[in-house]
Amino acid sequence: MASQTSSIVQSSLDALLEDESFLPGLTGQTRKQAFTSLGAILSTPNHIHKSFLRIPLENGKVVRIPAFRIQHNDTLGPYKGGIRFHESVNEEEVANLAALMTLKNALHEVPFGGGKGGVAINPRDYTVKDLHLICQKYVHYFSDILGPDKDIPAPDVGTGDREMDWMMAEYKSIRPGTTYRGSFTGKSVVNGGSLGRREATGKGVYFTFRYMLHDFLNEKRKWLSGTENKFAQTAFSYADRPLDIAVQGFGNVGSVAALEAYRCTHLKNKVVAVSDRNVTLYNSEGLDIPALAEFTSSNDGDLPTTEEELSKLKVKAEIMDRDEVLYLDVDVLMLAALEDQIHQENMKQIKARIIVEGANAPVTGEADEFLSDKGVIIVPDILANAGGVIVSYFEWLQGRETQFYSEDEVFKLLFDKMTATMDTILPQFFGDPFPLRQNCYIHAVMKLSTISYRHGKLY
Ligand code: GLU
Repeated sequence: MASQTSSIVQSSLDALLEDESFLPGLTGQTRKQAFTSLGAILSTPNHIHKSFLRIPLENGKVVRIPAFRIQHNDTLGPYKGGIRFHESVNEEEVANLAALMTLKNALHEVPFGGGKGGVAINPRDYTVKDLHLICQKYVHYFSDILGPDKDIPAPDVGTGDREMDWMMAEYKSIRPGTTYRGSFTGKSVVNGGSLGRREATGKGVYFTFRYMLHDFLNEKRKWLSGTENKFAQTAFSYADRPLDIAVQGFGNVGSVAALEAYRCTHLKNKVVAVSDRNVTLYNSEGLDIPALAEFTSSNDGDLPTTEEELSKLKVKAEIMDRDEVLYLDVDVLMLAALEDQIHQENMKQIKARIIVEGANAPVTGEADEFLSDKGVIIVPDILANAGGVIVSYFEWLQGRETQFYSEDEVFKLLFDKMTATMDTILPQFFGDPFPLRQNCYIHAVMKLSTISYRHGKLY
């Protein structure tokens, strides 16, 4: 587990150990021992599976590609989490992402544990045929440990419904006769995927932000205006003000979150900047997000990078360096690219007072502490980007029932679930001095501890 995750888990356990109203059946030495056990359980994964996939490429070469499936914790149900295709994939990163899935599912009361997979490739360097073979081999190598009641993968960075369809098909042929629909989520809709799954993470990211700054704030206006809490003051200073938003990353999460912001009528917000791996586009009057989203869908996912492309699209924007998106003078920064984007070297240049983590772990521990001390609200990954896994859960249920929900039903269920989590977390967050991440971790760890205790596993 990366140091930030493990240190917040540990401090959550320390706070719960002191709070004797939590698990009152555990006292004295037994209590201490039980909490030490929990620390040991949560700080290490249950299983690390690693293989080298041998792939004869279309160009005639044969390569061996490192591939992982790490199963962190299954206290709440089968392991669940995406499979990432990215050249930086390594064991430590996948293990940390698996731990985040355990916490994310516990926080939102999704009956799954936490797992994650990864393949160390840049998918852009491979042909469609190569990628198909990589997916088949991944399932082949890990088929014993995967399954609808064991470990259920989903898309992550670099993968999507195409890869999940291929993987599910391979699983089905390796294990004929099993209830294969629930073996992978994030599949295409024609192949048993859920309506709304593709947009779920981005929609959930924007919904989390909107619910906190609009619905919750309006309802609790009186109570919030009286609190001394620095985060409540930050939130309050934004109430009823037009907000400028910058979005880092314009993939499946960032583009949908930006579209939601563009279309939102509850808040007076403007998306003034978006970025991707090549470029930042900026317009202080607000960008034409639908036009940009349309462009990327027919341009291999990339934003326009030249004046000609922009003028053809009739989009007015200043072209800036890729990382400039982080340092703009905006109110809100949505991070929907990769991990470790705000860190010790650049944290002092951040001007946004609200940061929403659409990606997993985009802010390092040092930067998190530094910005939180200044009253910056960081809406953490496990709260904000859970829309994907929540709708994965609905997909898994629909696959079991072979009964499918409408898109409206899916989004209603999603927003209801996220609302329930926020209604539990936010009153505490605005009332005590801990950052939102710590509040979320305490809640998730409480859930995991309670169930481990009820299972008789704490000794
Ligand atoms: N990869 C997504 C995440 O990090 C979704 C996982 C899932 O749907 O299982 O939350």
